[in-house]
Amino acid sequence: MGHHIGGRHYAVQGSRTQPVFNPATGEQTGLLSLASKADVDHAVAAAAHASEAWAETTPLRRARILNRFLRIIEERTSELAAVISAEHGKVHADAVGEIQRGMEVVEFATGAPHLLKGEVTENVGSRVDSHSLRQPLGIVAGITPFNFPAMVPMWMFPVALACGNCFILKPSERDPSASLLIADWLKEAGLPDGVFNVVQGDKEAVDALLHHPHISAVSFVGSTPIAKYIYETAAKHGKRCQALGGAKNHMIVLPDADLDQAVDALMGAAYGSAGERCMAISVAIPVGEGTANELIARLTPKVRSLKIGPGTDPEAEMGPLVTQQHLMKVTEYIDAGVSEGAKLIVDGRNFKMQGYEKGYFIGGSLFDHVKPQMKIYKEEIFGPVLSVVRAKDYGEAATLINAHEFGNGTAIFTRDGDIAREFAHQIKVGMVGINVPIPVPMAFHSFGGWKASLFGDHHMHGPEGVRFYTRLKTITSRWPTGTRAGADFIMPTMK
Ligand code: NAD
Repeated sequence: MGHHIGGRHYAVQGSRTQPVFNPATGEQTGLLSLASKADVDHAVAAAAHASEAWAETTPLRRARILNRFLRIIEERTSELAAVISAEHGKVHADAVGEIQRGMEVVEFATGAPHLLKGEVTENVGSRVDSHSLRQPLGIVAGITPFNFPAMVPMWMFPVALACGNCFILKPSERDPSASLLIADWLKEAGLPDGVFNVVQGDKEAVDALLHHPHISAVSFVGSTPIAKYIYETAAKHGKRCQALGGAKNHMIVLPDADLDQAVDALMGAAYGSAGERCMAISVAIPVGEGTANELIARLTPKVRSLKIGPGTDPEAEMGPLVTQQHLMKVTEYIDAGVSEGAKLIVDGRNFKMQGYEKGYFIGGSLFDHVKPQMKIYKEEIFGPVLSVVRAKDYGEAATLINAHEFGNGTAIFTRDGDIAREFAHQIKVGMVGINVPIPVPMAFHSFGGWKASLFGDHHMHGPEGVRFYTRLKTITSRWPTGTRAGADFIMPTMK
């Protein structure tokens, strides 16, 4: 498995490689070439070759290509979902959902002619007009995580391409195939060679992108330590950067909430995709002992009876974790929670999936009486582990959220409009749900967290995406009228 550069599949003999596994079976399914600096240089050269013509292509033509791509991906959603399941492990329906959310960004980007309209002011001075417009940056790069191998790249490239940029994608080395399929389909839709390229790889490829003088901007999604590194390194090399990091998303459950609704919401948000979502709820904060006891009582049987299976099982609600290493990491977090004194109500550690004994399966886990100083509270686990932290009142619950290092998403379940409004206004988190557990903004809004969940100014897709992938130019013009005013040596002002 290799790269897609200049409209062609491209693999280098003798390059470093890394195996790719099917998480449900533990079998190796491929061997991935890891790009060297020379391979990245090759991709940048291909993009540079295509860049000028693509930037000069009218927004309407660019939008038409994205429209054709949209139709292709819509027809072949199931094929792409199967590829995602086979390398990520998520269940088929969940993979279809991720593609759907990605397609919505393509739909947004097909509005390029409208999105790129500038602003005009007539008569900023006597017979002087001003207009501003947004122009492409040139070549931009996207570095993406394993957990959404189609959707996260689709947060980036549709908007970047619609704005007239060439794009180099460096997907996760754990599930690289979706990106190659996407590159093939973009080509089939009529995208000129070199406008969209894929380089597979690890830190070497990432560093080559971050250091390359012809790359103008970098979009990143992944864990916080790497996001910080990407942001700092990109900035040091004069690049615009948006780097989205990890998360620890809390959901407050107030005593007046519809508890059945809250429990269903928590089940999907904590255990869907085996908790490997940046918007997963990993902390529930019931307010009051009565709410907490009732919540635990209703959650426990549901967590115990989660339907776990390979991505191909249509009945499964949750698949395996992505790698053996990640399985060990999640298990170690559960061990740490137990040794720090949290009460493990449901223990997923010894789950065995019959017929898939070599797969990276783990059961759902539920902790009660988790305290803010515990490692399982402070750090992102990124697995099917829900921690319940009991709070005496709303104020204590909100203070916990505001004090946390991360600020990606959060939710409150209540019927109290006053408190819900207060929550939306005061909480220091980028994406907020009121009786909505996973408040992922639609494509025409923008996605991004606060605090250690995002380094940079711009959120992804929506209006912020257009701003990120374009730069502003303002033109002030006067046409000669035949009368000469003579030289003026003072600062121009409106006369
Ligand atoms: P990761 O940080 O390990 O990897 C992300 C990307 O960075 C990959 O392409 C990887 O190859 C590259 N990378 C890894 N180590 C690197 C290094 N040392 N130097 C340079 N590049 C490096 O993340 P992951 O495990 O693939 O994904 C899970 C993480 O992503 C979680 O923390 C999750 O919260 C986060 N995430 C965040 C969002 C968000 O919107 N904030 C969305 C999805 C995932």
